[in-house]
Amino acid sequence: MPDFEIAVIGGGVVGLAIASRLSVKHPNLVLLEKNSKYGEETSSRNSEVIHAGIYYKPGSLKALLCVEGRERMYSLCKQNNIAHKQITKLITSSTPEEVSKLEGIYENGTKNGVLLQILDAESARKLEPNICTYGAVFSPTTGILSVHELMDYYYHTTINNGANVQLRCPVIGIDKKPDGYELHIEEQGQRSSFSAELVINAAGLGADLVAQMAGIDIDNVGYRLVFAKGSYFAVVPSKAKLVSRLVYPVPSTEGLGVHALVDLGGRLKFGPDVEYLNDRTFQYNVSEGKRKAFAESIRRILPAIADDDISPDMSGIRPKLQRKGEPAKDFVIVHEKERGLEGFVNLIGIESPGLTCSPAIARYVEELLF
Ligand SMILES: Cc1cc2nc3c(=O)[nH]c(=O)nc-3n(C[C@H](O)[C@H](O)[C@H](O)COP(=O)(O)OP(=O)(O)OC[C@H]3O[C@@H](n4cnc5c(N)ncnc54)[C@H](O)[C@@H]3O)c2cc1C
Repeated sequence: MPDFEIAVIGGGVVGLAIASRLSVKHPNLVLLEKNSKYGEETSSRNSEVIHAGIYYKPGSLKALLCVEGRERMYSLCKQNNIAHKQITKLITSSTPEEVSKLEGIYENGTKNGVLLQILDAESARKLEPNICTYGAVFSPTTGILSVHELMDYYYHTTINNGANVQLRCPVIGIDKKPDGYELHIEEQGQRSSFSAELVINAAGLGADLVAQMAGIDIDNVGYRLVFAKGSYFAVVPSKAKLVSRLVYPVPSTEGLGVHALVDLGGRLKFGPDVEYLNDRTFQYNVSEGKRKAFAESIRRILPAIADDDISPDMSGIRPKLQRKGEPAKDFVIVHEKERGLEGFVNLIGIESPGLTCSPAIARYVEELLF
């Protein structure tokens, strides 16, 4: 008989969402996190946007789970007093040539079931007088939230359901057994192991390596991750009120484009850019050398921002399945029984909108297993 019914590897927002949901009916669950606190990696280094689900390929997991996750997220935040605001968003065309792209964005979002409106330049300027616009797409259901309050909620729900969260527990090996899996962990230099019937790999930037520990040839199946850093620049307080909602440019192939983000404290920042890293070291410094390029991108949407109005802020790292220049790939969320790993679920490449999707991912994983 295994020690635990379920082991969740990774205490980011996704692992925590899964643990909090599954522990309602399955309290013999353990969540294993390698750091000394949960949510210290990508989950606390992002834009904290509740995405509407506009850009993703219709029918993809990203699209379906984002739309479902957004609805679930608003209810969850309201019911549990998690700070959030349905602040809304504009995607603005900053050149006459970009106007034609708004229709495509509108159509894609509408196919995903997202409520959107196309605005002419005058109507867009009524909402945001300081932006450069030749027309825009308005998204009334986009919002922002406190990811830390969300993760605290998931954590306390998991504990209150009677499950365990083990910190400083890196998983370093996995063996398949007839009745489940033996997990090898290293806790403060001491090696130990225990068993679980079901394993859920939500290890974020390390998820491909955890899949490899379970015996999957990650190059062969396309699970190997590459890291793409996203940096932010903060705006001086005197210019923080230039916009009152999120303002995005028309997206490029590599991402949504550097955009204006208003947070719950009323601060304004811009980001994230996309910088593919050559290795897997966690480099979170934001280079002062990016100031000029950032200011230029920002001025496409907010012409009043000068180079000196911004300063390097935070950064996060995306776990990407696609290499630089390749089209976006969908999330991998798979019960690996066809690879001989009954009861083992992999979540790989959970980049944006993973935070928004987290309550829907938890529902999806539950259905994969039960
Ligand atoms: C710059 C940026 C902006 C973003 N903006 C948004 C946004 O506005 N809205 C949105 O919806 N999404 C956004 N995202 C995406 C979102 O942040 C992620 O999808 C989400 O945080 C992923 O959560 P996770 O739990 O999968 O990963 P993580 O937060 O990375 O958690 C994984 C955890 O697993 C642990 N771990 C790894 N290996 C092991 C191991 N061997 N043993 C034990 N533990 C292990 C790690 O320590 C980590 O704590 C953004 C991402 C980035 C990078």
